[in-house]
Amino acid sequence: MSYEYYEILEIDRGADDATIKRAYRKKAMECHPDRHGGDKEKEAMFKRVNEAYATLSDADKRRKYDRTGTPQSDASGGFDASGFDFSDIFESFFSGWFGNSGRSRRERGSDRETMVEVTFAESISGTKKTITYGRTMRCQHCAGSGAETPSDAVTCPDCHGRWRVKRRMQTIFGTMEQDTVCPTCEGRGKKITKACHVCRGRGLEDVKLEKTVDIPAGIDNGMSMKIAGEGDETLSGSAGDLYIHIEVGAAPSGLEREDVNLRYHLDCHPIELTLGIRKTVKIPVVGEREIDLAAGTQPGTILRFTGDGVASLSKSRRGDLFVEIAVRIPEKISKKERELYESLAAEAKIEHRSGSLFSKIFE
Ligand SMILES: [Zn+2]
Ligand SMILES: [Zn+2]
Repeated sequence: MSYEYYEILEIDRGADDATIKRAYRKKAMECHPDRHGGDKEKEAMFKRVNEAYATLSDADKRRKYDRTGTPQSDASGGFDASGFDFSDIFESFFSGWFGNSGRSRRERGSDRETMVEVTFAESISGTKKTITYGRTMRCQHCAGSGAETPSDAVTCPDCHGRWRVKRRMQTIFGTMEQDTVCPTCEGRGKKITKACHVCRGRGLEDVKLEKTVDIPAGIDNGMSMKIAGEGDETLSGSAGDLYIHIEVGAAPSGLEREDVNLRYHLDCHPIELTLGIRKTVKIPVVGEREIDLAAGTQPGTILRFTGDGVASLSKSRRGDLFVEIAVRIPEKISKKERELYESLAAEAKIEHRSGSLFSKIFE
């Protein structure tokens, strides 16, 4: 058995649900057909990725798959995706990602991609970022006609300005008629007698643009935002979309993000845990929180601050903040402290290594 579903998603056999979901999202984005203008190989790969995810994301199907190495089939022997909702992967934020598949690719321009870096704090609070990106747009000078002036374009003699011509093809099913872009005017409906000097008759120009976008609070590393219609424009139809891939910087020391929750490791002095404390702690990104520990609190104790985590992009509820209590032993202590520790050790009858070399010499 090959267990190739794991290979398709490039994950280990023991991967947990979050890892599977992340791997799926990454792979699905990589080979989504909308981003490859109908590339057959990518389309086939995309199907395999969905297949793999449909099985591995369902505990029951995965167990069976792990046992047999073959996916659960429906009655017709085909792939069983019943009851599987792909849309649950992409938060409402990403809506439309799967909605484009049915659209005619001939009329739609290509998608564009760009990357934006945000700091960890910005990913939690949300921010505005100015992005730069390139796209192909209809030429400003000729408005996409490709002609220097409107009188330099005449109606195309082959398609009579209808942009498309019908083409007959012989197939095994008989003669089929298909609409195809007019080869004479390349779908413009006009024949150019004098080409536009800006785009040299292409009707399109490549531009660099800047745009300020809202990055929503709670965005995570590896997520992508779609800005509809900011991809490449075509002469005859609608524009593709712009995808902004988000890269989040490292979290401040001691702080970690776990989905919508935050975890902070709070180092305490042994005396603080022994005697108990109530103090205000400044937690990076989050802000100040009052920490109240009873005498004898053990390392590993976790304090929960409900709703102090990260905003969820799909749910209304925020995650929580968990403060995990750790002990930090002082590496250097003063002579006075040392004496106090030693008398404490004597009182508590704790055996310890005898004093430093110096104290021995001067004894
Ligand atoms: Zn032009
Ligand atoms: Zn034509």
